[in-house]
Amino acid sequence: MTDFDYNNDPRIHALKHVRNPLCVFDVESFQVLWSNQAGLEFWHADSIQTLRQRGFKQAVTEPIVKRLRQLQTDCHEQDISLTELWTIFPRHGGRTVEHSISPFMIGDDVKALMIEVVNEIYDVDSDTLRSTAALLHTSAMISLYDADYSLIYCNPAARDSLNSRCTTLPQRLVNDTDIDIIEEALEDAECYHTELEVNTTRGPRWHEMTLQKSIDPVSGHPSVLVSAVDATERRHAQQTAYKLAYTDSLTGLPNRAALSIYLDELLSIQDGEQNEFSLFFLDLDRFKIINDSLGHSIGDQLLIEVAHRLKQAVGGNSLASRLGGDEFVLIMNQVTDTKELKVAAEKILTSMAEPVMLGNQKLRILPSIGICRYPFDGESIAGLMENADAAMYMAKARQCGYCFFDKQMTINLSATIKDKLGLENDLVYAIRNQEFELYYQPKISCRTGFVSGVEALIRWNHPTRGLVPPDSFISIAEETGQILELGNWVLDESMRQQRQWQNSGLHVPVSINISAHQFNTDDLMMNVSECLVRNSCDPAMIELEITESMLLGDADQIHQTLQQLSAMGIKLTLDDFGTGYSNLAYLQKYPLDILKIDRAFLADQKRSMLMETILNMGKVLGLKVVAEGVEARSQVDWLIEHGCDQMQGFHFSEALPVAQATRYLEEHSGRMNQSSKAA
Ligand code: C2E
Ligand code: CA
Ligand code: CA
Repeated sequence: MTDFDYNNDPRIHALKHVRNPLCVFDVESFQVLWSNQAGLEFWHADSIQTLRQRGFKQAVTEPIVKRLRQLQTDCHEQDISLTELWTIFPRHGGRTVEHSISPFMIGDDVKALMIEVVNEIYDVDSDTLRSTAALLHTSAMISLYDADYSLIYCNPAARDSLNSRCTTLPQRLVNDTDIDIIEEALEDAECYHTELEVNTTRGPRWHEMTLQKSIDPVSGHPSVLVSAVDATERRHAQQTAYKLAYTDSLTGLPNRAALSIYLDELLSIQDGEQNEFSLFFLDLDRFKIINDSLGHSIGDQLLIEVAHRLKQAVGGNSLASRLGGDEFVLIMNQVTDTKELKVAAEKILTSMAEPVMLGNQKLRILPSIGICRYPFDGESIAGLMENADAAMYMAKARQCGYCFFDKQMTINLSATIKDKLGLENDLVYAIRNQEFELYYQPKISCRTGFVSGVEALIRWNHPTRGLVPPDSFISIAEETGQILELGNWVLDESMRQQRQWQNSGLHVPVSINISAHQFNTDDLMMNVSECLVRNSCDPAMIELEITESMLLGDADQIHQTLQQLSAMGIKLTLDDFGTGYSNLAYLQKYPLDILKIDRAFLADQKRSMLMETILNMGKVLGLKVVAEGVEARSQVDWLIEHGCDQMQGFHFSEALPVAQATRYLEEHSGRMNQSSKAA
């Protein structure tokens, strides 16, 4: 109970003589501390003690408690008296009374209120009474502004939120331009419904508000009546829900649904030239391999980085979104000029070309981009996406980075897709029906000019299509997982053939291509050794060809696999060197024996310097170097001159079926015949 020595307070002596009922009220303890005689009568108490002990708090509702607190703050902070109409119930029946409330300090820290009953109103009708009470207790914020937007009234809820420095409507609004929008809206209409950010005692909040032109009942002047409710939480909830529905959770980019809405909007703009735009369809090259070999966490980080770079590479008037997987779509708003689009595509490619550091791995991943333009290349969302997709496929096939859509593509592409689906189905039977066959392409020693090995290359004798080359089905078999069964068949069959040649006196090493999928299974070691045993094959006569992308994963694991294969006596070849990451570090890090330079190197005269470097490096590292794709005599001479070890290519022979390969071996193995094309 608050200590208040009212007998010795000079103010109380003066107040005793006031005729109106009067009391000193402490809002904190919710207690009457003192009352004059008129007050005791008014509140039906026989002494100050009785009044002091009355449990007011239990008798009033929460809004009244809040209201009193607020009056306490208002009166003390601004040092003012306020007048309010309250209906109170001292005994039976309500009495409507005008109260005057003023600040009253007790000591240094108790901010009490002096409440004086100034006037009892007898002729209030019940409607007025109820509407006044409703206004006082509602949580809706009601305020009245005059024609200059100065505040002339606000109900307790509004005052509760009102930052005391904001006495005009423009001051209340966070956004400076909002007042102009309101003004404009109220010029044309009586009422304007909106949601705005408002300065409040709790900081900036969103208020859902209705602004209505009205007349101030006191002055008769035009005014604006504002009723508002706090919509901040609802807005946050909506925003969160919106974000979840329309944002790709991994990269933070807009997702497929958001893109669809955005495109819908663009397509619905009926404004001639205005609604031209271009759609870029991006798909990352080799992402699947990275994801499979390095794990999804690395894949995810890569996607995040790609999204980041994409956002940076494109300007403000465009939208970058992720469809899912490694597919991204970019909308270039109002740009359809080919030159500009080329610049944009090249900018994206340049931004992606910089390798990404993930952990201690350096990865470079480039996209293939298909570009189509609205409305020239398609008039519906589905049509545009399909065509951009077609252009993207073309870019991938041509390995040219980006490609513009043209009508011919859809025809070619639908044929390709049908083809692919057909092959996918047929593959299932092909393994069972033994439709596969191994061809062998000779490798020639640069030193002797004789055959020094063969590479086993798979062919599919398709019942209706004829001979299908591996490039058309290996990737499908990789996707479907059938490559494992196929790969095992190749291991077994090529070792069987090696043994057979060996038996007939042809000591020819056979190299076998291993796919990424195969390399990443735990069974590889077991399968290889089982095949060796089954065919009584000498491991020294077997080479396994792997590609750089397979060396990207868990270094320890890879090292162990390669080490085990190597320990068995098998030779390891790094195939297609120069097409992928061309990471020289791999050559030192792993127990490799042979480096096979991709045929693109030989075909490209401009890269002969690099080729020379690779040859020298191979020598330094103790690796044998094989050049593949040797088609011309001049290439043969160059390779011999520069110290290459082995050559493989159409100049000598293409891959041959067993019977022909055997004949070739017999004719070119030095043992039988000393003459050779290369010699
Ligand atoms: P690769 O391992 O790089 O094989 C070399 C490819 O280049 C072969 O194509 C071969 O016929 C071709 N080639 C050889 N000499 C020349 C030349 O002088 N000029 C040109 N333009 N090309 C030449 P092929 O047989 O169509 O094989 C394509 C790819 O399919 C192979 O590339 C390899 O990655 C894959 N592959 C082939 N057989 C198998 C297999 O049994 N298992 C796995 N996993 N992949 C295989
Ligand atoms: Ca190969
Ligand atoms: Ca190769």
